[in-house]
Amino acid sequence: MDSSRTSRRAFLLSASGCVAHVLFSAACAPRSTRARWTAPINPTVRTAPFARLDAIGAGAWALVSTPLGGDRTTFANGGIIAGRTGVVVVEGFYRDAGAAWLAQQARELTGRWPTHVVLTHYHVDHASGVSAYADNAVRPQLHVTAPTRAAALGGTPVAPTRSEALTRAFADVVLTRTDRESRIDLGDRVVTLEPVHGHTNSDLIVHDQDAAITFSGDLVWNGMFPNYVDAQPVALHAQVDRLVSMVSKRQLLVPGHGAVADADAMRRYRGLLESLEQAARAGFSAGRSPQEAAASYVVPAALGEWMAGKPAVERAMQAWWRALR
Ligand SMILES: [Zn+2]
Repeated sequence: MDSSRTSRRAFLLSASGCVAHVLFSAACAPRSTRARWTAPINPTVRTAPFARLDAIGAGAWALVSTPLGGDRTTFANGGIIAGRTGVVVVEGFYRDAGAAWLAQQARELTGRWPTHVVLTHYHVDHASGVSAYADNAVRPQLHVTAPTRAAALGGTPVAPTRSEALTRAFADVVLTRTDRESRIDLGDRVVTLEPVHGHTNSDLIVHDQDAAITFSGDLVWNGMFPNYVDAQPVALHAQVDRLVSMVSKRQLLVPGHGAVADADAMRRYRGLLESLEQAARAGFSAGRSPQEAAASYVVPAALGEWMAGKPAVERAMQAWWRALR
């Protein structure tokens, strides 16, 4: 199958996944809002048509995807944490070329090809390109939870299209614990992988506590309404509360989508989830449908600019209705 047909199929399969979610959410936003969506708060060290790398600490970079420019090589964010004995990269991205680009940047910036790859969850825009990391003499270790591996290969509609390369990439993995943290020792720094629920039933949060850096995956979205397609809203809210209090202590957080988040961005995100929960609970108690509740929901102006398409808000209300039943 040629690559345009493959990517078209992947796009259609993921109609409710994060790829379509990002495009639909941005479609109705004013040009100025779209342009501001991923504005950097840290120095940018590399730029590609689809993403850039921002320096977020010693030996640490955030890959911030910029898909609204039209290049869909990557949709989700990720990044690099480099230590004395190894290099961790976060996420597998939408296309192989996205993962290959990040690996190449890791080599140029650290002198090393990635030695470890972590996927925060199984969604198509985070996992599809992961086999590209193996395209080198050094084959990095892939760290995922068992549910993430099963979903990424087993076809939920929002997981990658199955391929031989993907099956090979997931054949030999380090399955991280789902009941407590795992650690990747990089000699002079330790990266911890914290299993939680919220955006999906199998999320991993990636921390470097000493460097005060966190990669949250899609538990956090910055400037764009989050995708609730597989979300567990109560668990999501609890995790976000925890992440907000961490970031308020001078942490930087790399969200799944949008610019790197500081304390103010996290406060606004929590406000968004709270306003949504209030509207959901009020609508549910009044006997309304998720569609009716979504139709009357407006993001409070005090929370600043959020790209929020109608399908995204409806999906969130449906997730709340599932939880409240
Ligand atoms: Zn996702």
